[in-house]
Amino acid sequence: MEKKLYLDYNATTPCDPKVVDAMMPYLSDNFGNPSSIHHPFGWIAKEAVESSTHKIAQAFGISVDNITYTSGSTEAINMVLKSFCQKYKPNGSHIITCKTEHKAVLDTSAFMEKYEGVTVSYLDVDTSGLINLDELEAAIRPETILVSIMYANNETGVIQPLKDIARIIKNKKIFLFSDATQALGKIPLDQIFESADFTCFSAHKVYGPKGMGMLYCKNIEAMNVLRSLIQGGGQQKAFRGGTINTPGIVGFAKSVELSQHELLDKNNRLERLRDLLEEGLLDIELSFSNGYSAPRLPNTCNISFAFVNGAGLLRGLSKDLAISNGSACNASSENPSHVLTAMQIGPDLAFSSLRFSLGKYTSEDDINKAIKIVRREVNLQRETNILWERRKV
Ligand code: PLP
Repeated sequence: MEKKLYLDYNATTPCDPKVVDAMMPYLSDNFGNPSSIHHPFGWIAKEAVESSTHKIAQAFGISVDNITYTSGSTEAINMVLKSFCQKYKPNGSHIITCKTEHKAVLDTSAFMEKYEGVTVSYLDVDTSGLINLDELEAAIRPETILVSIMYANNETGVIQPLKDIARIIKNKKIFLFSDATQALGKIPLDQIFESADFTCFSAHKVYGPKGMGMLYCKNIEAMNVLRSLIQGGGQQKAFRGGTINTPGIVGFAKSVELSQHELLDKNNRLERLRDLLEEGLLDIELSFSNGYSAPRLPNTCNISFAFVNGAGLLRGLSKDLAISNGSACNASSENPSHVLTAMQIGPDLAFSSLRFSLGKYTSEDDINKAIKIVRREVNLQRETNILWERRKV
């Protein structure tokens, strides 16, 4: 297959070759089950899991006891939200989240409303994508048990003010969960570990393997809320039954280690390239940037092109440029992006929006090519749009 331009790093990333090298022995010679305590195959695997967990804890400045491995962020999100639901259900519990969350939070919340009788408040965002802190405060009820607000948005890169959110719920016996899937490797995580009681990460967003992630639980109080989604075998202190994914954990640890080393240099470079890309795209007539006025991830921009058929645009681009119109998990949806809709962007513009997400293998040459490709395709789409001609009359 001819190598295509890839600007969809928020959807997923390729495994770093160093990650693959680190994992390989645990897929072959060192294939043991870390729970096999009676022979060296098990001991070697157990040692690898333990030293990887230490590496992750060290990179994040947390304790190994704060970590539960999962298959990714979606599982960690389900585990947190459903644990709250199980623990507090008898009290008619209430959760506050936000309309621009990832579908993993929104769909799990909807499930709990439907089947578990939990009440959920969905906060609005302003046109820049930020929640309003007064609205958060006003939404708190005596029965509120959890606030679930993501750190960085996957479609726009908008970063929510976690410290302020934590300040508002402090001393109210409300826990804070923040989905930091898109933050890892892109911005420092101090705010997350200072502010959130729970957070989650996914290895495949940071050049690690797919099907691997973790849930962070701040302290014993938070841990007491947690319930296992998966029973069987008692692995991971009975928080997640099932054979421990040794190569996945080794690969995740390597990707975390690399991401923390590369953070500053990589992100200064990415921010410069992202700005170059955004400038070039905004040079196209009637194009608009979404979420640019809020603090945002250095690798992401989201641009709407007026008078363009979004589906046609994506189809046209697909031969030259790997890009998406929002979350990969929601790519087949026939509705406009729920994130852009919440930011009060009308359906036409929301449908004609593209998310550009850069990664460590993106070059300046890629950016210049991408601008040309998008410009050409937007012009092509507009040529067949009668409204584009009429707008001049
Ligand atoms: N949360 C956010 C913000 C994401 O971007 C994603 C992935 O797209 C997820 C959660 C789900 O992560 P995973 O693929 O690890 O289940």
